[in-house]
Amino acid sequence: MTNLATVLTNTAQARPDAPALKFMGHDIGYGPLAGMAAKVAGALRENGIQPGDRVAIILPNVPAFPVVFWGILLAGGTVVPMNPLLKAGEIDYFFSDSGAKVAFVWPDFVDEATKGAANAGTRIIPCGPMGPADGTLEGGEPIAEAIERDDEDTAIILYTSGTTGRPKGAELTHRNVRLNAERSSGVILEVRPDDVVMGCLPLFHVFGLVVGLVAATNVGASLALIPRFDPGEAIKVISNEKVTIFQGVPTMYAAILNHPEADAMDATSLRACASGGSAMPLEVMRGFEEKFGCMVLEGYGLSETSPVASFNMPDRERKPGTIGVAIPGCEMRCVDLEGREVPVGEVGEIAIRGDNVMKGYWNKPEATAEAIPDGWFRTGDLATMDDEGYFTIVDRKKDMILRGGMNVYPREVEELLYTHPDVLEAAVVGMPDELLGEQVGAAVALRPGATVTPEEIVEWSKERIAAYKYPRRVWIVNELPKGPTGKILRREVHAPADS
Ligand code: AMP
Repeated sequence: MTNLATVLTNTAQARPDAPALKFMGHDIGYGPLAGMAAKVAGALRENGIQPGDRVAIILPNVPAFPVVFWGILLAGGTVVPMNPLLKAGEIDYFFSDSGAKVAFVWPDFVDEATKGAANAGTRIIPCGPMGPADGTLEGGEPIAEAIERDDEDTAIILYTSGTTGRPKGAELTHRNVRLNAERSSGVILEVRPDDVVMGCLPLFHVFGLVVGLVAATNVGASLALIPRFDPGEAIKVISNEKVTIFQGVPTMYAAILNHPEADAMDATSLRACASGGSAMPLEVMRGFEEKFGCMVLEGYGLSETSPVASFNMPDRERKPGTIGVAIPGCEMRCVDLEGREVPVGEVGEIAIRGDNVMKGYWNKPEATAEAIPDGWFRTGDLATMDDEGYFTIVDRKKDMILRGGMNVYPREVEELLYTHPDVLEAAVVGMPDELLGEQVGAAVALRPGATVTPEEIVEWSKERIAAYKYPRRVWIVNELPKGPTGKILRREVHAPADS
């Protein structure tokens, strides 16, 4: 019934002069933003984009991101946000799997994206800070009124991985995203039109995209963008733009708190801070609150749940160390392997049901059936629930490594290492890291006679895989620990203390 893009068009109609975006000292109003998006939408239609066609975005947090995001949706397209740090081989997989017809790409990444587009035939459109570069996407009448889409049609495909295999595209519907953004700006954070929301979370990630951009747009608040997270830059923007709502992953809080300029930050405007994406260390939470005088509320979610599933709601008791209670419209419980709810206080896998749960994984019905076997989405996260409905995460069931809020999937990195001529076997594991939460490490067994050094393998990997994924530490072992079937036991692999 309703295209998600009406979130923008309604706000632009009601508050055309209100600043939608704040970027490098300039304000861009909702009226002009909607106008630029309408132009992109018209040109996409003119260039053959039909409702449901996939269009990728490979951009940092610059105004062009919201411009093309809303433009694609206005034209009826499906948005495929991608991490700008991906390398050609990875881009090829995302383009081919999603069947992206067009990709909006930041100039620095055009070469890599062009290489990655060869198989899928994706058309690359270079984008400057404000939108498509002149002469790259032309024609068509602006589309100010969104092309009709159904509530259950897919609005966004977000690549993420479950327990196995390569990343899968989580299909979030227009309804999924609209409702989660409404609840984020309504009951969860109580965002108001005069709020300035910090936009330092990457917009290609579900947290920054839905809880930041779409939720702010929903009420006509401003989003203050910085191209890529940098604590010094964030401190300046919070002080100068009088940010009222800060959203970040725990490593961002820690980086700001520990920055030499932290004492000079004017945090008087801050009235709410939200943390999610990985576990918030209590010392960081307390330190941030003491220094800046603003409460930090922790929540939990996944790409597959659009994203927010639970939160320490502002109107309820806050329990530090917990991920809060299930948000309205979402049910959450801890289940055993058979899907039965476990008693209060016992560990189980978090299962989620509600209107934030994705439609499924793009073109992967088997993976969808495995993830949602009985109407309840299995998260792979182990937790306990107390008698007031607050959840505490115990551990991750899956082996995903969370490096500074970014997901690294060991198998993907292992697959790369296996392509090194000297590598016989490899196991990639997370190593505790004070700053990033986890760091990527790899145990490697070499082929007989090989002389490659761990440092050379690190350098080799760096050239071939996104910067946040390559192993920062490699150590050589004679043999990797294996189970009875010969399967490598990742859980028994640990970095040597002295390396
Ligand atoms: P993503 O799909 O990239 O959003 O990653 C989702 C994963 O992040 C979840 O399955 C959790 O393992 C983790 N996560 C999200 N929020 C929290 C939190 N507050 N505490 C601990 N882990 C979290």
